[in-house]
Amino acid sequence: MFCYIAGDPTHHEVRVPVTPATAEGLTKLGFKLHATPGFGRDSLYRDEDYRAAGITFVDDPADALRRAGLVLRVRKPPAADVGRMARGAVHVSFLDPFNEGELLAAFASAGVAAVSMEMIPRTTLAQKMDALSSQASLAGYAAVIQAAARLRLALPMMMTPAGTILPARVFVIGAGVAGLQAIATAKRLGARVEAFDTRPAVEEQVRSLGAKFVKIDLGQTGQTAGGYAQALTPEQIARQQAAMAKICAQSDIVITTAKVFGRKAPQLVTTAMLDGMRAGSVVVDLALESGGNVEGAREGGDVVTPNGITILGHGCFEGTVAHHASQVLAANYAAWIAHFWDEKRQAWRFDPPDEILRGCLLTRDGAVVHPQFAR
Ligand code: NAD
Repeated sequence: MFCYIAGDPTHHEVRVPVTPATAEGLTKLGFKLHATPGFGRDSLYRDEDYRAAGITFVDDPADALRRAGLVLRVRKPPAADVGRMARGAVHVSFLDPFNEGELLAAFASAGVAAVSMEMIPRTTLAQKMDALSSQASLAGYAAVIQAAARLRLALPMMMTPAGTILPARVFVIGAGVAGLQAIATAKRLGARVEAFDTRPAVEEQVRSLGAKFVKIDLGQTGQTAGGYAQALTPEQIARQQAAMAKICAQSDIVITTAKVFGRKAPQLVTTAMLDGMRAGSVVVDLALESGGNVEGAREGGDVVTPNGITILGHGCFEGTVAHHASQVLAANYAAWIAHFWDEKRQAWRFDPPDEILRGCLLTRDGAVVHPQFAR
């Protein structure tokens, strides 16, 4: 099957959905892989390695799109690309489906089967395909590294003949996949780490990483059947903010990762809380792409508040470690393909749809088939 690996210039996306290692595996499965030259350059994957792994380079992306039975890319496509694809083709990428009703309608009317990486269920069986986790983990790591580089303090405690340097204090809000990796990274760098999450089950995981779990009584909180946090009421958020203000004021780095799947991220760090922090402190908002946890944070550049707090303005921290982010992301794509591809028949194994397919296949045969998005 003709497979086109589409680049992503509109989002300045540097990650790639296929590495030379996964290209080799996909070629063995029978895919004829195509891409434009240099597509992996920014994540340090070389054309010659792709070529050796079976990728053919093309100079006409529109033609490749038309011919492809499978299109792989990292982010949602421009609408024009959907119209160029062949009926019956499969398109795999992150799709942001909760905010992209029109794009889903376009996929449906083009007769393209759209697969959303973020909708792959977080089950044990689908663990190898879990791109949300693979990317969140690297984002959590990179957030700490980027914050530490901006901070004019050292993170670890140092006892020197010239005196003792106290460890920097890091506060992580939201201890899911990204938050736990941020905690682990900050601990490895020697910081004193505190964390909070609305899911009580997380407390043990935070403590096992050597961090302190901050207790805030919010009344009833919970998680969905899929393991995601439930949205808080405005009163609960106000209570959380009041309790966190003091901890933010004492912290040198605050990293927020609090998301509510399928909804806008809650605003947890207000301007008033930023005003209470020490000059030189650094705030990282890992929920920026889904609305942001920090008031005043914006993509595309750091913001420095009047009292000297730097809010990092990156929307995609995993992109700062694009080589490794691509390595694991490409493995997620390859695992999805291997699960659904019948090598003998050289055809998709979509029927009957299993639990994974029911979760992530959004459009098929001219219709939006996912119950959450069908209108
Ligand atoms: P996420 O990105 O949706 O959210 C990040 C964290 O923010 C979560 O821990 C959430 O509880 C927390 N949060 C939400 N609102 C908050 C608030 N107001 N204050 C503080 N924290 C808040 O979550 P995720 O990291 O993608 O993980 C979601 C769930 O999926 C977790 O339970 C995780 O263990 C589970 N998971 C399961 C598997 C698997 O079984 N294969 C794999 C990965 C993740």
